[in-house]
Amino acid sequence: MGEVRCFGCGATVPDVDGPVHAYILAAPGCWSLYCSLLDVKFEGAGETTGRPQGLIDAYAAQHGTNTERRNRQSVSLHLVSLCAGLEYDLPEERRRILIGRMSHREYPALQPSPTSFSVTVQNVVAAKDDARLGVVRDLEKATWSAWSVHQTQIRAWLKDELRLVDRWYPAVASSDLKVERRSDLPR
Ligand SMILES: [Zn+2]
Repeated sequence: MGEVRCFGCGATVPDVDGPVHAYILAAPGCWSLYCSLLDVKFEGAGETTGRPQGLIDAYAAQHGTNTERRNRQSVSLHLVSLCAGLEYDLPEERRRILIGRMSHREYPALQPSPTSFSVTVQNVVAAKDDARLGVVRDLEKATWSAWSVHQTQIRAWLKDELRLVDRWYPAVASSDLKVERRSDLPR
């Protein structure tokens, strides 16, 4: 079977025909690798079913391939979720809530968007079961880093939303809803 470079993430993937996502445009071989991970084990990921949030976020953020409204939103919000995970240690469940709550707005096309990444879905598929979750973590970091030009904007969206959380839940803001940026990161 031949191989082709995915025009979204730059991964070398099987050159096949097949379905693709409605707006997260990718080479069919890339989309089929991502779909194959639905049936794959992520040892250490706990009881949550399906793909880890970091994988979902990174895959969407690696395919800023389409200026259509839904894709602009998808790229922006999944980058926000990556930032929330990597810089605020926000748990997966809360990252999903965050994405849902921020999805009512319009988001610009973040240009230029990266078209190659040092870790892709291809590496996640190739990983051994017991190493796969670690590769997902590397995938998250590689994706976030490749978007460095836009990190200031993404952090600003996230911070605005976290401030709203404090305002909506003042009674509990100081306890479990309070979210702080990791203190070991540069300011
Ligand atoms: Zn791809």
